[in-house]
Amino acid sequence: MINYNRRKTYQVKVGKLIIGSDNNIVVQSMTNTDTFDISATAKQVISITKAGAELVRVTAQNVNAANKLSLIKEKLRENKYEIPLVADIHFSPKAAEISAGIVEKVRVNPGNYTDTKKNIGIEYSDKSYALEVDKIKQKFVPLIMICKKYGTAVRIGANHGSLSDRIMSRHGDTPLGMVKSTLEFLRICIDNDFKNVVISMKASNPLVMIQACRLLIEKMDKENMMFPLHLGVTEAGEGIPGRVKSVAGIATLLADGIGDTIRVSLTESPEDEIPVAKRIIENFNETKFNNFIPIIENVDCSYNPFNYKRRKTRQVRNIGGDKIPVIITDLSKTDTDINFGDLIPDYIFCSDNEISCKIPKESSKIIHTNSRVIEERQGAFPFFHLFSFFDNENVSDILNFVEIKYDDLLDVDFNKLRVQKNLVIVANINDKNSPILAGRLFLAVLEQNNIDFPVIIKLECNDNFNNTLIKASGIAGSLFIDGMGDGIWLTNQGKPEETNNLSFEILQACRVRVSKTEYISCPSCGRTLFDLQKVSAEIREKTSHLKHLKIGIMGCIVNGPGEMADADYGYVGTSKGKITLYKKQEIIKQNIPQKNAVQELLNLIEKYENIPH
Ligand code: SF4
Repeated sequence: MINYNRRKTYQVKVGKLIIGSDNNIVVQSMTNTDTFDISATAKQVISITKAGAELVRVTAQNVNAANKLSLIKEKLRENKYEIPLVADIHFSPKAAEISAGIVEKVRVNPGNYTDTKKNIGIEYSDKSYALEVDKIKQKFVPLIMICKKYGTAVRIGANHGSLSDRIMSRHGDTPLGMVKSTLEFLRICIDNDFKNVVISMKASNPLVMIQACRLLIEKMDKENMMFPLHLGVTEAGEGIPGRVKSVAGIATLLADGIGDTIRVSLTESPEDEIPVAKRIIENFNETKFNNFIPIIENVDCSYNPFNYKRRKTRQVRNIGGDKIPVIITDLSKTDTDINFGDLIPDYIFCSDNEISCKIPKESSKIIHTNSRVIEERQGAFPFFHLFSFFDNENVSDILNFVEIKYDDLLDVDFNKLRVQKNLVIVANINDKNSPILAGRLFLAVLEQNNIDFPVIIKLECNDNFNNTLIKASGIAGSLFIDGMGDGIWLTNQGKPEETNNLSFEILQACRVRVSKTEYISCPSCGRTLFDLQKVSAEIREKTSHLKHLKIGIMGCIVNGPGEMADADYGYVGTSKGKITLYKKQEIIKQNIPQKNAVQELLNLIEKYENIPH
């Protein structure tokens, strides 16, 4: 995983577009209009195209909706738009077959293409399990035949949370279950000599999505399958948290050489997803990864790509060991007081003691060591560059921050470093081509040399806030997702409070430090039964103090409950004006009027969590 190689894949033809192999990574999105509203849907496809998407998905929730796709396509062609369309199918092989004769690609969900949710809790014998797999063949082969006839591509899109009962009975709601379910469909494709197929493995938790994709690649390699991958973190939410989660998930896999098309799913207008996707591709592209030169050759990454395990470190003060990763925020260039709200950094880098702004009492200071300031240290901890640390008289006997730059790794005397005490390494991984690969190599070199000091991931993004968000979420996010890192230190040209907030968001997205309520909200589509953005804003406003909870806000009951698999409470559209409320996966209130539903959700949370709202 340090030496970058883009994974070799088949080329999948979607109209005039080619996905996979060494073709450019394709950016796509999905409409959220009603498919029956031909003009609104065509209009939105055009506006998503203008924003820069190369492929647009439209819901075909049933046979009637599938039939409307030809009218939408006609309208696009009338307006001279050739963009290929994808029909999004759940539960309806018939709608898939109709769509396959109209649009360029059909997405099916292996969790619900043939299996229904009627067999919950049933035990499957080997025989009954095999019979069910056989049923997939009976229903899926006709679709393949239509696709072959019309040159239509297929996406087999597994989602964590919408696996079939049969798969759940054997593998649970796990990355392995997602992979097994997908492989059943892929083998049928291979048996029928059909390779015009893209795969996706999505989850709202980036760790699950990454593990599932990596595991799928491993299994496909064993069976000589080279299908390209569509990447995305589903139900990522909106705003900064939605972007951070999406970038962390997608960039980690791009650095692995995996990924041929991407979608950033946000609970915002679909057009807003495109610039984020484009910036991800710009920042984490093949050329940059290919230009990365490992400063030390033949170093192996020892982390397990299929299971999260934090790198084992000793604890130094409150950093490393089993302590949650810390946040260091740089106030060295600030002279006004900062309001951090609830998100107080653990450490503040002041550069020297003469800082002119106020520091929260909960934060500790880090100061650049030099003889002038060290005499007045008073509870601050020193920061050194490695080569000035050894034998320095200002070393603290509690905690020292020692920066090692990636470019200096070759010159480090690891024998000397290993015997030091009370040391936290600040890994400055600012390689111009790929800080992700530099970070992986850095941590692997420490491991190879038996260095178990905690590591702070330091990124100097000499950029504005929006670009820092993309870079830092991808770089630091990918390292934390793989268990590397005991703290984060970001610098950029933005406001310190925004940078500090971003650090908290990155740790939250990687599930290593929870500091806010987590919202799992779908991007909305033609099935959505209420104004998702409005309701989501209302729920956020009223629940943002419930920091330990994950709340799902999902547009429809068809996919919503499954896809918020991770949520503690869920608000799900059941029919027009009706909402169903969940505690975990259990229905607590069904079909309640939407006008009372947010209040009912708050009552529910109050009752079960014993928290006043
Ligand atoms: S959960 Fe949301 S995005 Fe998914 S199908 Fe339902 S409405 Fe559409």
